[in-house]
Amino acid sequence: MKFTKKQIERYSRQIILKKIGVVGQKKLLKSSVLIVGAGGLGSPIAIYLAALGVGKIGIIDKDNIEMSNLSRQIIFSTDDLNKKKSSTAINKLKKINPDIQFKSFNKKLTKKNIHMIAKNFNLLVDGSDNFRTRFLINDYCLQNKKILISGAISKFDGQVYTFDFSKKKSPCLRCFIPNAPTNIDIDNCEYEGVLGTLGGIIGTIQANEVIKEIIGIGESLCGYILIVDGLKLTFRKVKLNKRTNCYCNEKNQ
Ligand SMILES: [Zn+2]
Repeated sequence: MKFTKKQIERYSRQIILKKIGVVGQKKLLKSSVLIVGAGGLGSPIAIYLAALGVGKIGIIDKDNIEMSNLSRQIIFSTDDLNKKKSSTAINKLKKINPDIQFKSFNKKLTKKNIHMIAKNFNLLVDGSDNFRTRFLINDYCLQNKKILISGAISKFDGQVYTFDFSKKKSPCLRCFIPNAPTNIDIDNCEYEGVLGTLGGIIGTIQANEVIKEIIGIGESLCGYILIVDGLKLTFRKVKLNKRTNCYCNEKNQ
């Protein structure tokens, strides 16, 4: 593939970076990322990935835009109320970068449809708001040896995980959370509250990890959890080991 003049100009500040260059930017333009959830995390993830040139972006979200979303879901405006999240987000992203191929899925991600939806994407980003979806994405990526960048926010705190299932030693979400909580379908933000900026902090770190994994630069977060305390403003990288009797050990042998 050859860059157009406009592409060289658009991505010039990244191409100039020695660790990215023309080769890295081409990797981004050739990559495909599925973002699960167009919410507080999905908004900054989608905006950055589209702006900096991830070639194909899919967004899946079944919800419509509600007033209570607007304090953190910065891709939406007040006049978007009641519209579908996935297609509205993509209409905004097309204006940010018409260079990108977009695909919107206005549906709930389920065991039945995840393969059809995710098979055309080489990396998944989890910005969902419930454990049922988180485990579903974890298990799918594990079985299909895909990279998963997962994030979570609640109150003033957040976490980021990178699971690179192409590597046998990668832990999975179930290593960290062995038992599904009883409130598997509950949206934490709705019941516990969340400060809007946490979506920006954690979502932007997730987008940053996506870029690192696609281009292959820096140190992968795989094998660690990043724990962010927004009030104390601490960022702790904690080692996450593969659990001996975890699901990922059975599946990855
Ligand atoms: Zn595991």
